[in-house]
Amino acid sequence: MGEAQVSLKHLYRVFTKPEHKDSKLAQIEQHLSDNIMDFLSQHVVTKKTSLEEIEKDFSQAGVPESPEFVSAHAESLLEKLVAHSVNTYSPTFIGHMTSALPYFHLPLAKLLVGLNQNLVKIETSKAFTPLERQVLGMMHNLIFDESDAFYDAHLHSARHALGAFCSGGTVANITALWVARNKLLGPRPGFNGVAKAGLAAAYRHYDINNLGVICSKRGHYSLSKAVDALGLGREQLLTLPCPAQTLRPEDALKAGLEYQAQGNKVLAIVGIGGTTETGHVDPLDELADVAKELGCWFHVDAAWGGATLFSSTNRSKLKGISRADSVTMDAHKQMYVPMGAGMAIFKNPEDANAVRHHAQYILREGSKDLGATTLEGSRNGMAMMVYSTLHILGRRGYELIIDQNIEKAQTFARMINTHPQFMLTTSPTLSLLTYRVCPASVQQALEKVSPQECDKLNQKLDQLVVAVQKAQREAGKSFVSRTRLECAELDGKAITVFRVVLANPLTTEQDLANILEEQALLAQKMRLWKELDKRAMAMLKHASV
Ligand SMILES: *Cc1c(COP(=O)(O)O)cnc(C)c1O
Repeated sequence: MGEAQVSLKHLYRVFTKPEHKDSKLAQIEQHLSDNIMDFLSQHVVTKKTSLEEIEKDFSQAGVPESPEFVSAHAESLLEKLVAHSVNTYSPTFIGHMTSALPYFHLPLAKLLVGLNQNLVKIETSKAFTPLERQVLGMMHNLIFDESDAFYDAHLHSARHALGAFCSGGTVANITALWVARNKLLGPRPGFNGVAKAGLAAAYRHYDINNLGVICSKRGHYSLSKAVDALGLGREQLLTLPCPAQTLRPEDALKAGLEYQAQGNKVLAIVGIGGTTETGHVDPLDELADVAKELGCWFHVDAAWGGATLFSSTNRSKLKGISRADSVTMDAHKQMYVPMGAGMAIFKNPEDANAVRHHAQYILREGSKDLGATTLEGSRNGMAMMVYSTLHILGRRGYELIIDQNIEKAQTFARMINTHPQFMLTTSPTLSLLTYRVCPASVQQALEKVSPQECDKLNQKLDQLVVAVQKAQREAGKSFVSRTRLECAELDGKAITVFRVVLANPLTTEQDLANILEEQALLAQKMRLWKELDKRAMAMLKHASV
């Protein structure tokens, strides 16, 4: 189908830009553009097809032998791919941190791909390099608020970097801990430093058993990847229990002192500026004190919550973030930029030099090439999307959106609290919350019956939450995610809960009410619901005699 000629003439045509406005390629472009608009105005899931069915469309391992016409290929993409994508723009898609984007990103994306600049070195990026440095400076300013003289001196300095732009929060966390590691195990007389000599030699030289990183159980799994990739080992990520959802400074200090008493060294404490699961913020100011006492690096993972700094009302929730040595920010989360935009920001502009790399053909000494201090090599100009969004929305625009998201989460929390068939499990600090669906009788029973009986009810409730979440996702009108959480109220035992992220500015209160109604209806139709109700009634009757 749609097979084209195998000739250089045909291939040259594929490489050249459309000749005029109504050429074939321009028409295809318009067609795709119309189709995507159509798709984005539909439900979360347009076509209910199983993953197994979809896999059949992608089952050929062989490289296609002959070229295909672009028009024919575009049709096949629309049919096989677009029609089965998830509409993350939908106002009722409130389960994950990926949400609707401002429309201007579509034409800007064309510019980005059209220019295809490579930020690894100035020779392939020119103006994009100063732009990216400015964006990193803006984030630095938002977090650390240094003087104008500071930014004048460092923004475009070849010997400094205010941060590292990368593909996302994962690489930002790895980059931050990489810098921390290389600084701690740096060169000194008689030792070339970990970057050159390797980790084993560094441990011998510095007389260290192990290097560890402290965070709470709610730490993002990218931290576990980071300690693995940096050679520390996953067992050296000390994840401390946090039944109240935030890391207690006294626990962090105790764990750090105990660890160091065994001949180990704490590399870093990671405070979370908005956990991925519940949106709680660790006590950053107190954790900065602990880091100081342990003599270690202080990293704040603000991949999701960092954007809260735009809001003068809510930025105090991240109090202490300016005492961090490094901060992770994800512009593709609450900064409404397409995926592929993470940043590690360094308080001290000298720190990134701990990972600086020089190569003869590129990244020459004294050059302003950004590739010298980033983990990734070739990178596109995503910083432009951040730059443009910062300008088009402005701080005050972001502030409005962030404040509205948090207020909406508070409204949703009230709706859950007043609804007889739902229970709020964590209330929103930022725009995230978790809750469960639960018969009123079970809610009563949970207050009155023995811990053993509560356990039984909770296990069944977990199954109910899973079943309702799946049924809702399959129905395709709306999407809420689920997770497992340890709760202070249950002596740290884990329960399964719905998880909601209110990031889409177009989600209305009516949407939220509808989502609750849909969940209540789905739940009440389930056999599990009736079983739970019956069991709770029996327990209550028994408890009252
Ligand atoms: C999303 C997230 C990450 C990982 O970011 P990616 O962009 O998915 O790599 C890390 N930490 C936190 C707190 C996050 O919310």
